[in-house]
Amino acid sequence: MSVLESQVNISEAALAFIQRQHKFLVGDQWLAAADGQTLDVYNPSNGEKIASVPSGSKADIDKAVAAARQAFDDSDWSRIKPVDRQKLLWNFADLIEQNAPLLAEIESIDNGKSMVIAEHVDIRLAVDFLRYMAGFATKIEGRTVDVSVPFMPDAQFHGYTRREAVGVVGAIVAWNFPLLLACWKLGPALATGCTVVLKPAEETPLTALKLAELALEAGYPAGVVNVVTGVGHEAGAALSHHPDVDKLTFTGSTEVGKLIGKAAMDSMTRVTLELGGKSPTIVLDDADIQTAAQGAANAIFFNHGQVCCAGSRLYVHKKHFDNVVADISSIASNMTLGSGLDPNAQMGPLVSARQQERVCHYIEQGIQGGATITAGGGAIEGPGFYVKPTVMVDVDHNAIVTREEIFGPVLVAMPFDDIDEAIRIANDSQYGLGASIWSNNLSQVHRMVPRIKSGSIWVNCHTALDPALPFGGFKQSGLGREMGSDVIEHYTEVKSVLMSI
Ligand code: NAD
Repeated sequence: MSVLESQVNISEAALAFIQRQHKFLVGDQWLAAADGQTLDVYNPSNGEKIASVPSGSKADIDKAVAAARQAFDDSDWSRIKPVDRQKLLWNFADLIEQNAPLLAEIESIDNGKSMVIAEHVDIRLAVDFLRYMAGFATKIEGRTVDVSVPFMPDAQFHGYTRREAVGVVGAIVAWNFPLLLACWKLGPALATGCTVVLKPAEETPLTALKLAELALEAGYPAGVVNVVTGVGHEAGAALSHHPDVDKLTFTGSTEVGKLIGKAAMDSMTRVTLELGGKSPTIVLDDADIQTAAQGAANAIFFNHGQVCCAGSRLYVHKKHFDNVVADISSIASNMTLGSGLDPNAQMGPLVSARQQERVCHYIEQGIQGGATITAGGGAIEGPGFYVKPTVMVDVDHNAIVTREEIFGPVLVAMPFDDIDEAIRIANDSQYGLGASIWSNNLSQVHRMVPRIKSGSIWVNCHTALDPALPFGGFKQSGLGREMGSDVIEHYTEVKSVLMSI
């Protein structure tokens, strides 16, 4: 397997953006880091440095939180009508849509993902989600409550609740869907009237800076959207420990999510965590086997396996195991790898040299543990952070490769005898983010759904997301939900009002 040697042309607009002297947005000021530190950004398809961005520290986060606090407490934004919040969010979505080709190109160069996918999946979903959230700006409601206050038999009361914006939101996101994950935080925050300090991942800071520019262009007042680039243990840690942040929302690894959860509890900061996964793909004996094999391949190889809900554990009824594994291995072996800018490439590089090493280390561990490799099996020599799409069989349920999140294009496949066993092994994980069931037996599927401990269950599809459906994890895959109407609760507080009348 080799990497396509493509001549990819970067558009002038993308080049101009990538090569500019980047600054981050605090209030309405574009700033360098207070201590002058910068962070290098690399193109994963050739390993070359493409940009540097400011590397924010505590001093920068302090400034950004102060700007967000000021905007939340005392600015036009704090007095804005819901209908105007709706309009602004719609403007913001329109601008992202108008800039989709440019954003997709920047995302592809920064992250390594396919530009086509970035435009038609990541950015499409982000725009649809922001518009869906815009509708909620005018639908944030409390309740009237008929109360019976004890010990005051002659008094009468009017009781009601209000749902109010939680305040300053600290948002920290991962690198696998940089723009989309940022919009998952910005959408509900801006719909409900919060203000935001966003810290993108150090590997992929570029589209967040472009988003900041578009937020100002959309008309958001100074301080409503702030973006501080920087590394996790500095800028991220400063944001997650900041006493003036009212809510933290995090997307990333379970390990870092736990640190953020603990930091949040110190000041009782509201917190939602979207964390890792090791999601099962379950193929039942009555499934359409060719569809299921292609679906299972997409479930693990989409976005090069760097998907929190990637179908990284494949369980197939023993009757079809060999055929399904042969089909997926053939799909994997025939995949064309290349730059995300090349429309002929079916899979791009991983995001960084570190991620490439990490994934290859897991493949090695699998082999040392006795796994048989039926496709792929390691990195591709040469520039760029490519890893061959890999399929492993003869793997134990307790093997590291079965239990830990690899976050790359690596599938472990195992047979099962019956439904009870399939459910038991699917649930035998610390994670519970997504699961897919491939079957044509509707009753069987409906009986299985309640038994699988997972935030999302897909039937005859995998990683299919919609703004109206909540997304999030059971168990160590997280706390709270993104998207759907459910997300509004996480960005608002309930206030009870009781009036003696
Ligand atoms: P990561 O946890 O290393 O980093 C995520 C973010 O946290 C980055 O912005 C990073 O700078 C920051 N960070 C790192 N250390 C920090 C610290 N000590 N304090 C504060 N912030 C810190 O994760 P990653 O490698 O960027 O992303 C991959 C992980 O993200 C995978 O586990 C994946 O499953 C998960 N993820 C989950 C979802 C979901 O919706 N559940 C979506 C995408 C990715």
